[in-house]
Amino acid sequence: MKHFDIVVVGAGPSGGHCARRLTKLGKKVLLAEQHQTFAQNDFSSAATPLETLERYDLPLDVVGSFWQKIAIVTTHVYQNWECSRPRGVVLNFAKLREFLAQEVQRQGGEVWMGHRYICSFEESGKTVVEFKPYKSNKTVKVSTQVLVDATGPSRAVMCSSKQQHPAYFTGIATEYLIEVSSSDYQKYADQLIFFLGHKWMPKGYSWIFPMEPNRLKIGSGQFSHPDKKTERTGSLPSYIELIIKDYLQGIPYKIIDVHGGILKYCSGLQDTYYRNNIIAIGDAVSTVNMLGGEGIRHGMECAEIAGRSIEAYLSGKQGDFSSYQREMRQTYKKTWDWSERMGISKYLEYSDELIDRGVTYLNQLSSEEILQVLFEYNFNPLYRRLFPYLRYKLSAKMYNLIQQIQSRFTATKPLKGVD
Ligand SMILES: Cc1cc2nc3c(=O)[nH]c(=O)nc-3n(C[C@H](O)[C@H](O)[C@H](O)COP(=O)(O)OP(=O)(O)OC[C@H]3O[C@@H](n4cnc5c(N)ncnc54)[C@H](O)[C@@H]3O)c2cc1C
Repeated sequence: MKHFDIVVVGAGPSGGHCARRLTKLGKKVLLAEQHQTFAQNDFSSAATPLETLERYDLPLDVVGSFWQKIAIVTTHVYQNWECSRPRGVVLNFAKLREFLAQEVQRQGGEVWMGHRYICSFEESGKTVVEFKPYKSNKTVKVSTQVLVDATGPSRAVMCSSKQQHPAYFTGIATEYLIEVSSSDYQKYADQLIFFLGHKWMPKGYSWIFPMEPNRLKIGSGQFSHPDKKTERTGSLPSYIELIIKDYLQGIPYKIIDVHGGILKYCSGLQDTYYRNNIIAIGDAVSTVNMLGGEGIRHGMECAEIAGRSIEAYLSGKQGDFSSYQREMRQTYKKTWDWSERMGISKYLEYSDELIDRGVTYLNQLSSEEILQVLFEYNFNPLYRRLFPYLRYKLSAKMYNLIQQIQSRFTATKPLKGVD
């Protein structure tokens, strides 16, 4: 049986980055993924701010396109913002994960594609991990000092299918990758367009992202929460087709791929972060932000934090992963709680009219401020702008009230005079 320092299950952005980071430190790492190729589960729209490239040392090869404009379209309102330079990228999700896996191999680690995690157990003081290779009847076993659950929403290692999962705030999405003419592509080439409101996607949102020359990603995603009743709506593809018909005005297109995915967020970040020598990272501990469904860079940041903790554990400097859990909660808890509350109101509670009004109000924000709200989850610009606006609305209401009282008063005066 082969022995590793670390076995990482799941080659998404968090698992790939964690394995890459630890092989770089000279650790003996296995990265195992259930799919045979990265093209097979190419599910993510993969928009992220520009800083992600530098922070996680990603090459331009993994970039599909750059964006510098943002538009929000609701049932009755359209708002857009333009920055003077590119502020983000749409990553090629398959290339991103392939790059991370190649880095693991280049630095001496092993990558096993087409290997599904089955179970793990203790045997003679070692953790044994069992995988089922694609199309094989036999399982393969390896042993490890640390086992990393990077299996995203399935949390396959930490919460096996037999165990009870907590109730999740869930997002489910479908996306079409379509090919369009160069002239049609140019109209949408450098912008992220988000669609809110009942026309475009009740209880969720839809989007158009530029994937790469002549290719657009058009998706629709819907949220559900265990405490909120959700009425039936049309199917996700029906909203994507509505966008193509109404918003893109029926331009000619060819479907290249249809894919989708699921997000499962544990309210209040109540996931299990570690158990003995098993540690969970990325979406397996709800690093995705449920306000916008953005999770790639947060999964990679989590992998950084976990990587430091695994290194300290292996060198005997710490006996468990409690410092990892502490650091994760310090980094995310407050902002993620806020984002969850805002996500629930925006997607599951607001009426169509309120969404229209909210987005109308956003026109007071500059492009820098809208980026702060959408990508830094910094809501201060909203409140800064909201208070003068509310003050103005309140004083306008008070003025009208005083006018009404005065006019009543002057209207009744002559009568008093007659008396
Ligand atoms: C439709 C959609 C659009 C999105 N758009 C964006 C976006 O625009 N920007 C953004 O930042 N984020 C986006 N996200 C979220 C982002 O993709 C995720 O947050 C991110 O991929 C999480 O990374 P991860 O590595 O933790 O998990 P994942 O990417 O889910 O990776 C988990 C891996 O584990 C593997 N696995 C699972 N079970 C097993 C098993 N038993 N054995 C072996 N392998 C296993 C899976 O095959 C998978 O490859 C989107 C998500 C969806 C669903």
